[in-house]
Amino acid sequence: MPTFVIVGASLAGATAAATLRSEGFDGRLVLIGEEPLPPYERPPLSKEYLRGEQPLEKAWIRPPEFWAENDVEARFGARVERVDPADRVVVLGDGERIAFDAALIATGCRNRRLAVPGADLPGVLELRTAADADRIKAAAERAQKAVVVGAGFIGSEVAASLRGLGLDVTVVEFMQTPLERVLGLELGRVIEGLHRDHGVELILGEAAERFEGAGRFEALVTTSGRRVEGDFAVVGVGVEPVCDVVRDTDVRVDNGVLVDATLATSVPGIFAAGDVARHDHPVFGPIRVEHFDNALKMGETAGRNMLGRNEVFDDPHWFWSDQYDAQIQMSGFATSWDRIVFRGKVEERSFAAFLLKDGVLRSAFSMNWKFDVRRAMPLIRAMARPDPDRLADPEFDLRTLAPPKETA
Ligand SMILES: Cc1cc2nc3c(=O)[nH]c(=O)nc-3n(C[C@H](O)[C@H](O)[C@H](O)COP(=O)(O)OP(=O)(O)OC[C@H]3O[C@@H](n4cnc5c(N)ncnc54)[C@H](O)[C@@H]3O)c2cc1C
Repeated sequence: MPTFVIVGASLAGATAAATLRSEGFDGRLVLIGEEPLPPYERPPLSKEYLRGEQPLEKAWIRPPEFWAENDVEARFGARVERVDPADRVVVLGDGERIAFDAALIATGCRNRRLAVPGADLPGVLELRTAADADRIKAAAERAQKAVVVGAGFIGSEVAASLRGLGLDVTVVEFMQTPLERVLGLELGRVIEGLHRDHGVELILGEAAERFEGAGRFEALVTTSGRRVEGDFAVVGVGVEPVCDVVRDTDVRVDNGVLVDATLATSVPGIFAAGDVARHDHPVFGPIRVEHFDNALKMGETAGRNMLGRNEVFDDPHWFWSDQYDAQIQMSGFATSWDRIVFRGKVEERSFAAFLLKDGVLRSAFSMNWKFDVRRAMPLIRAMARPDPDRLADPEFDLRTLAPPKETA
């Protein structure tokens, strides 16, 4: 009877395990995760869960009893020390060795830390896990003022949620606008306006120089010497892939575990999925994506490919972010573009934006605007060159441009 081992019990790993069972795999299936909880979804941690509107139980990826009921050997609260591709064995922290026929690396990402004085003071918090969210919730309960370092998705969502809880919030961001790295200046300015209109103080173009406090956080000092006081700070300055378990093995690693279009690593029988996987995407080239939908779909594909299906993963990617009353969506992937075509009303924060490079649609963004980001996905996958006038016309249905089987 074959044994499949999945390392990392979050969205990608848990989804792969569930997929293996639903696809009929009846061998031994071991799902190992360092966190003591059953697998849960992270998006509510910066939104409903942080604001106390939703319990963690609403975020289980499967009901906790699912794992035993489906004969998945769940090892939650157990750390994998290494995956040994030569001996084909997974070694746990307590020395246990589990021989495998196929393995999946789904170890996700960890937060980047700021290498500045005072970064380890009590009251300087971060957000990745439910335990992190609990610490922020507890700090927010007895606080009036929070300092958020970094205005990427996590920092922006935390700022919005803390404002929702009635705290004063100052955000310090190194770039010129929130989310500039992903959205560019023009769209970043829209996010900036959103936060300012909700009463967030934004300090842009400045980095954190040091955290100060007598025994616990009291203030952040920026690179220009500005001192921003607060009751606690949340640092959200990006993440890095957790590749430790295969470091210095034949499994190739370079800003993530490298996988081909089918999510296979450089070692036969070992796959990677989710935030940790740097994937040779058929449309975008090698990319590593840190979003929910990608981890979910990669988990499904990896599960099937562990069974030998050899499916190519060419999903055009989609994600969302909720900040205040703004529902943000984005599909595709673009690091640069030479044209943005808007549809709708930017000034009312109800619009879509299409990012084109050399006439090819690479990505779509929207705020409080239904359908078009998803409807753009088949066009992005097909590397279509849609007529910009049609993109700009809210009456024009993008589905009419898509290959029939791909309409969203
Ligand atoms: C606060 C927050 C809000 C988010 N909101 C959104 C959103 O609104 N929209 C969106 O699209 N995406 C969002 N995301 C991103 C999304 O949650 C991630 O893309 C997704 O969780 C990735 O899943 P994963 O399984 O690849 O990795 P992870 O969720 O990082 O899980 C990896 C797991 O592996 C475990 N692990 C690592 N090393 C070992 C080891 N050696 N042994 C055992 N276990 C190990 C870790 O403990 C962890 O539980 C959010 C993320 C966070 C943190």
